[in-house]
Amino acid sequence: MKTAAIIVAAGRGTRLGAEIPKQYLPVGRVRILTRTLALFLNHPDIDLVQVVIHPDDRILYDASAESLQCPALLPPVLGGTSRVQSVRFGLDALARHAPANVLIHDAARPFCPNEVIGLVVAALSTSSGAFPALPIVDALWRTTDTNTSLTSEDRKMLWRAQTPQGFRYGDICRAHANHTGSVDDDVGIAVANGLEVAIVAGSEQNFKITTSADLERAGQVAGTDMDVRTGNGFDVHAFTEGDAVTLNGIKIPFERSLAGHSDADVGMHAITDAIFGALAEGDIGQWFPPSDQQWKGAASEIFLAKAVERVRERGFSISNLDCTLICERPKIGPHCSAMRQELARICEIEMSRISVKATTSERLGFTGREEGIAAMATVTLVGN
Ligand code: MG
Repeated sequence: MKTAAIIVAAGRGTRLGAEIPKQYLPVGRVRILTRTLALFLNHPDIDLVQVVIHPDDRILYDASAESLQCPALLPPVLGGTSRVQSVRFGLDALARHAPANVLIHDAARPFCPNEVIGLVVAALSTSSGAFPALPIVDALWRTTDTNTSLTSEDRKMLWRAQTPQGFRYGDICRAHANHTGSVDDDVGIAVANGLEVAIVAGSEQNFKITTSADLERAGQVAGTDMDVRTGNGFDVHAFTEGDAVTLNGIKIPFERSLAGHSDADVGMHAITDAIFGALAEGDIGQWFPPSDQQWKGAASEIFLAKAVERVRERGFSISNLDCTLICERPKIGPHCSAMRQELARICEIEMSRISVKATTSERLGFTGREEGIAAMATVTLVGN
């Protein structure tokens, strides 16, 4: 049985006073709409997701959905002049997919727990409609227009409605077609058309971002899902005839050089690989194939700068990096500070976030026999 979700994202969100509609604002490092779409695209009970957007927001939508492209995400449809009309356009667009059920959800509720979505879908096996709601804990008082008298209200029979509001597709389409006048939500349309609508347990997490205080709360919730990534890199280059080695961008006079297609900067190669590793974007050899003549003798700064550019493009920044050079000679210690400075320049971060250190291998192995130099690096990236 196919279940579709309509995400209503056509509103202007003017109460927040931001320059763009609130559903496109970032919360943490991810836009609100992107979060909401991901909830439904990743939910096992949802087969299709139909977004309804405002005609002016196409570019913002594309940026929000870029990372989520999959067959379940249908091309967006344009909304109307009211929420009711926007939902109707979403329902119309789903007709050719003939879903059995449809869930209608506000784009501005990006933290709806999976269980709530599951409860709404499950309730549709016995009811024409279902929506999550919360009881009211505060005392309720009704005032008159002039605030002159107060009357108490019984809160036990009152509920705070949330979304997603779920319906059997045919039922809600008929209800929308018959609907005239204004309502607050789709439950209002369903009830006005005689549909039986059940209440399932909502969640305080499923709050709607409406005011700037809500946006702040959303930022606190999102703050706990910060993306931190670590990558490691390892490289070796053999000695060959020559009079200097280049390590982490610093040329050190020596009785030999390092062999390699580029400038053989083993330290910078390990760091570059650590960055590509943290991004899960392959390795230096894939980005700069040794078979490609253009990298012959190239300064390794080009490779590192490319990796740093990818970090930026992917929305991360380098939190710190640590590189260990393994060799008996040349002596690295006197050059560590210059190396850190050079790496800081290329990585565009403070020197205090960069460590370069060296060790020997106690005369053991190929580094101990002075056949070459090895380097290890660890990098931590933090999502912006
Ligand atoms: Mg290398």
